[in-house]
Amino acid sequence: MLFGRQKKNPVKLPDKGVVEWKYTTCGYCSTGCSIEVGLNADGTPVSCRGSSDADVNRGKLCIKGIFEYELFKSAGRGTVPLVRDKTIDAYKEVSWDHALDRSASEIKRIQETYGRDSFAIVSTGQLLTEEFYTLGKLTRGAIGTNNYDGNTTLCMASAVSGYKRSFGSDGPPGCYDDFEHTECLMAFGSNLPEQHPIIYWRLRQVLEKRSFPVIVVDPRVTMFSQMADMHLAITPGTDVVLLNSLAHVILKEGLEDQAYIKANTSGFDEFSELVAQYDPVSASKICGIDEDTIRNVARLYAKADSAMSIWTMGINQSTHGSDGVVGINSLNLITGNIGVEGGTSLSITGQCNAMGTREWSSCSGLPGYRVLEKEEDRQYIADYWGIDPEFFPKKRGMAQTDIFPAIETGEIKGLWLIATNPMTSMPNTARIRKTLEKLECLIVQDAYQDVETTEYGHIFLPSGLWAEKEGVFTNTERRVNLVNNVIDPPGLAKPDLWIFNQMAKRFDNGQKIRFPETAEGVFKELGELSKGRMLDYSGMTYQMLEEQCGVQWPCTEGAVIGAPRLYTDGKFQYPDGKAKLIPLDFIDNNEKPDDEYPFWLSSGRVVEHFHTRTRTGKVGNQNKFSPTPYMEMNPDAAKALGIEHMSYARLVSRRGDAVVLVQLTQRVAPNTVFIPFHFHDCVNRLTLGLLDPYSRQPAFKQNAVRIEAVEDQDAAAVRNVAARTY
Ligand code: SF4
Repeated sequence: MLFGRQKKNPVKLPDKGVVEWKYTTCGYCSTGCSIEVGLNADGTPVSCRGSSDADVNRGKLCIKGIFEYELFKSAGRGTVPLVRDKTIDAYKEVSWDHALDRSASEIKRIQETYGRDSFAIVSTGQLLTEEFYTLGKLTRGAIGTNNYDGNTTLCMASAVSGYKRSFGSDGPPGCYDDFEHTECLMAFGSNLPEQHPIIYWRLRQVLEKRSFPVIVVDPRVTMFSQMADMHLAITPGTDVVLLNSLAHVILKEGLEDQAYIKANTSGFDEFSELVAQYDPVSASKICGIDEDTIRNVARLYAKADSAMSIWTMGINQSTHGSDGVVGINSLNLITGNIGVEGGTSLSITGQCNAMGTREWSSCSGLPGYRVLEKEEDRQYIADYWGIDPEFFPKKRGMAQTDIFPAIETGEIKGLWLIATNPMTSMPNTARIRKTLEKLECLIVQDAYQDVETTEYGHIFLPSGLWAEKEGVFTNTERRVNLVNNVIDPPGLAKPDLWIFNQMAKRFDNGQKIRFPETAEGVFKELGELSKGRMLDYSGMTYQMLEEQCGVQWPCTEGAVIGAPRLYTDGKFQYPDGKAKLIPLDFIDNNEKPDDEYPFWLSSGRVVEHFHTRTRTGKVGNQNKFSPTPYMEMNPDAAKALGIEHMSYARLVSRRGDAVVLVQLTQRVAPNTVFIPFHFHDCVNRLTLGLLDPYSRQPAFKQNAVRIEAVEDQDAAAVRNVAARTY
């Protein structure tokens, strides 16, 4: 007789005929999972599995990584360069030489007519680091426009800005191993299980061995908050008030690490004077967390032997994003929780190579965390590239979110977009549409021809994606990992590195500067340019990256492993070696609900999709599990408006409207609704996107809307389907 499991049919995995597994790194989120892609006898990718040797993911992958091999045969790929034929207002297929010649001549025409900075370039967090560095070299060294940025301004700019203000430099100081040591974890605006499932799994592994308090600060009852010991349902946009109040309690009760503050920080007097104004009673009225909870959390955090903070977009995408990061850093500085095992201030980055662009793209300055504002940095890079340092501007130009308004005003006439899709990702879609229509020349370089933005382009350059190319990504914990070229791009599509190198040949300085043809040749330049610096790559080789499944920087020449943590010696990147404790006054400048628009609207991710669904929208299982845009709405609020579960409702903001399927749930408060941000023609028709003054990052999560029941449900269903078309 058979009992229990033996009675069931055993699980059978289909034999996909894999004859070879090729090592690479996941191209979606910043967790940085090592992946092996299985190839069958024809050399066709048919499977993915997590690398069991990789410390990051230990053999695991999330749903996006498991099906990532399907991208190689996904629909909508660009396979031929295109140029718009004005006579028929449609794209025509052209040769690469024709497309590149036209691109270069349009860039030169616009620069000669309107000035060098009238042509802007906006890239992404998706390219390989070697490609970022080469694009920076082309933009700063050959084309010479100062209006150059990445779409990372929509996700990580506040973290970068906050790190620079507190520590004197960008660079996340901690690592995933800090979970193994910490005694208290506080997560701000981070829904880890959905946004970064494998980092969450690493945390769960530790919590199964030993327990420590997990505190989640989020206006919404997220998946992460449901597993936390404490959920602080904060009023949107008031993180700075909570952080000031936590510091208030810590200092008032003498729980701070005085020795650490004295030895390693500056600005304590001004900081303590400011936080003295944020007593828990007053703070609770603004941030919505009761006074006892503020006191309890402050005590828990400060009394723990080590405590760590993580955060994602809930902090960054705010008018106080940079201040929120500074506040988190200060909380860790006053409790001595920087550079120690289990004590850190760790921004969980968004895109797979958001870190690579921060380090090497030159978007915010010059490569290797150098800045345009320093003469010695301009001279060093000009000498290395072999050009006149006067070619460089002396300060940074516009961020992405300032480039679009500058197109509106006519200051910018041409734009080259690389692997980014502002028609879905930017706030206030209607405004972006009009903006793109004003351009004299829009070049769209993307792996997918069907991205919404291509419709507005004049030239389309088809590129390879992910493991159709070779190079490295840097993950959230500063781990540089290898992306091997598994197969070649389809049709005539080319790796971005090839496209940048070919474009460089068409500019005067591009002929003077050396542009290595191979990714490994570029990587050697990164080693040379970073030697002795904070982000030292000089000890890394491609072979070492694959053998160790990624190496953390700094990794100095001759080192056999990288360094897991920064600032272990308490020395920061300011000239005096000290971190700054910065007082943060709270300025209440968000759009807030009122009589006309009585609901907070927030947006975020679901586990199945990535960013604007350019890729995941074409993968079967991702769409099976998350097929359509929807709105989470509180049942009591819905009842008052006569709106039913699984009906369509219309949201209206001061910018526009959107029709969305209603999911009634207690996850959101009665005055709040939530919509995933992945879908075209949906949440960003409504968002305002006020900018953070330091980082220029938009406040995607603080908007006011009203909600109306929809009578014609059939018509609404048609409109909703349009938002998921692929
Ligand atoms: Fe890829 Fe991120 Fe999923 Fe890991 S957690 S498999 S890096 S999407």
